[in-house]
Amino acid sequence: SPAPVVRARALHVVPDAAALPTVVGAGLRVPTLHGDTAYANLDHAASTPALETVRAAVDRALETYSSVHRGAGFASRLTSAWYEQARAEVAAFVGARDDDSVIFTRTTTDSWALLSKALPSRTTVFVFGTEHHSTLLPWGRFRTVRLPVPQTVEDAHALLEDALADHPSRHRLVVLTAASNVTGEVWPVERFAALAHDHGARIAVDAAQLSAHRRIDLAGWDADYVAFSGHKTYAPYGAGVLAGRSDWLDAGNPYLLGGGATRSVTEEGTTWATGPARHEGGSPNVIGAIALAAACATVSRHREAIEAHETQLLERLTAGLDGVPGVEVLSIFGEDHDRVGVVAFTIDGWDSSLVSQVLSVEHGIGVRDGKFCAHLLVDELLEDPWGERSGTAVRASIGLGSTLEGVDRLVSAVAGLVEHGP
Ligand code: PLP
Repeated sequence: SPAPVVRARALHVVPDAAALPTVVGAGLRVPTLHGDTAYANLDHAASTPALETVRAAVDRALETYSSVHRGAGFASRLTSAWYEQARAEVAAFVGARDDDSVIFTRTTTDSWALLSKALPSRTTVFVFGTEHHSTLLPWGRFRTVRLPVPQTVEDAHALLEDALADHPSRHRLVVLTAASNVTGEVWPVERFAALAHDHGARIAVDAAQLSAHRRIDLAGWDADYVAFSGHKTYAPYGAGVLAGRSDWLDAGNPYLLGGGATRSVTEEGTTWATGPARHEGGSPNVIGAIALAAACATVSRHREAIEAHETQLLERLTAGLDGVPGVEVLSIFGEDHDRVGVVAFTIDGWDSSLVSQVLSVEHGIGVRDGKFCAHLLVDELLEDPWGERSGTAVRASIGLGSTLEGVDRLVSAVAGLVEHGP
């Protein structure tokens, strides 16, 4: 069909690159036992607030939107063009190669479910125990080689190298997280991609915790697949991405069987589409895709300012916690390892869920406690001298909705807890 003529206003506002982008609800005040206070949002690793530029893009799209790839009317053609423009924006955001597929999903979890359905049968999957459950678990129908939690990057490299040498198979996939959702530690993805490729394997990278903080670079890393979630990248819930090599995706089982995913349906059988449409059956989440693309565009444009803001907050947070006796910050590779703004910690004698409740109710601070859907990793990091593995931690995670004042408030609240004792 001919390309639609787009006459509506440009979808995205072009923001000022020097300034930090603003999140919706930046001035939120919350009730505490001592009265209202500014909300200290230190829970970005769970979900980030939406950006004002995202709200503007959604508002604009809602004025005219209609069905995608299903109608000849102006609104329908315009929306189809926006949807594909959003895909192009996301492709640039992840550093996709020209022949990569960029598929809109719901979340990272959904992206891996899609990939696991599309993998060639008899693929062997290699995955470390450091992973989030969404990345650890969806490979159940394949032979899976579970690698232990490593102590150093060299250790991880050696573990993977040995495992690849010990498990030859025609199709192999290494699954690796770019930044841990527990410790924030960044994995040198390109090194592991090179290792996988040296052994004829592919690599899929979980960028759920990287996307809001650092550049995703599928081509630069020479990785094969990447997944991330919009709700962790300053867009609302409901849109995520799987991007990568199109050969397996075009040959594999379609993810959602239905309208839009087919090329033809006859009494004799169904021919499935290739490209993203093969896996995007049903009416797509066009507003979600537009919102996500707007977030990607804003984050890319403000990359330097965002990284500078987060470096400042992270340094203040780690130095502050470091100065409180009885606080232990969790780490896989050692406390000096590069990390994004995600810090999990324990306080001697304090139950983590009580800590996060006190932080919320008394201080207006939002954090998360528990094992963060990474039970194997947290159990390993919190193993006590008697081999007991029942611990949980508190996680503070920063982003555009966080301020220095919020970080300072957290550190002094933690110091107060230590001073008064459990
Ligand atoms: N991978 C990592 C590293 C995560 O932190 C998360 C969510 O916390 C996921 C995957 C799953 O993301 P979603 O819940 O958006 O599917």
